[in-house]
Amino acid sequence: MFTPLPKTHYAFLAAVLTAAIVIGFYFSHHQAKKIVVQPKLAPMPTAIDPNFNTQVNECFLPTAAVYGYNLRITSGFRSLSEQNQIYEQGRTVDGHIVSDTPAGRSIHNFGFAVDVADRIWAFNIDWAKLGKIAAYCGLEQGPDGDLAHFEHRSGLSRDDFVAGLRPPALSLPCAIMETRAQTNKPLTRKDLQVCGAPKF
Ligand SMILES: [Zn+2]
Repeated sequence: MFTPLPKTHYAFLAAVLTAAIVIGFYFSHHQAKKIVVQPKLAPMPTAIDPNFNTQVNECFLPTAAVYGYNLRITSGFRSLSEQNQIYEQGRTVDGHIVSDTPAGRSIHNFGFAVDVADRIWAFNIDWAKLGKIAAYCGLEQGPDGDLAHFEHRSGLSRDDFVAGLRPPALSLPCAIMETRAQTNKPLTRKDLQVCGAPKF
C-alpha cells in the first residue's frame, strides 16, 4: 500500500528536481553556445583567406602527397575582374563557357576556394579519395559535381557570402602538420598514423 512521505521529503525531492532542471538547462545552453557558428561580417578580400590557405597548404596538399598526388593549385583567389573575365568567356567573349558563376558570387572571390590538378596525371585521378582527404582537412569538394574544386563554407550559401558572412576558422587536424610546414619537411605516412588519420 502507498504510504505518503512526510511533507519535508516532497519539498526535498522538488528542490532536487528543480536543481537538476536548472543545471541541465545551463549545460545544454552552454554547450549549444559553444558550437553555434558565429560568422563575422567582412568586406570583400583581396587575397586567399589565411586560415583556409593554411588548411590547404599544411593539410590537404601534404596529405594528398602522401597518397601519391602531387597537386598544383590551378586557381585560388580570384578578383572580381578575373571572375568577370572567366564568366564572360563563351558569353560575350569567344571560347567555351567555363564558369556559371558571375563576379562576386564565386567562393573563389571570397578567398575560400581552390581548384587543383595533379602535376602528372592532371584530372585523371581518384577524386573520391581526394574528397575524403579534403574532408579530413575540413574542406568540402564541389559543389555541383566540380570535383577539382575544394572550398570551406560550413553551410553558408553564396548569398550569405555576398551578405558579408564568413565561415568559422578551421584548425589543422594534427600539430605535426604545422611543424612539418615550419621546418619545410614533407609530411609522411608515419606522421599521418601518429596523427590518427584514417586510411584514405
Ligand atoms: Zn573552383
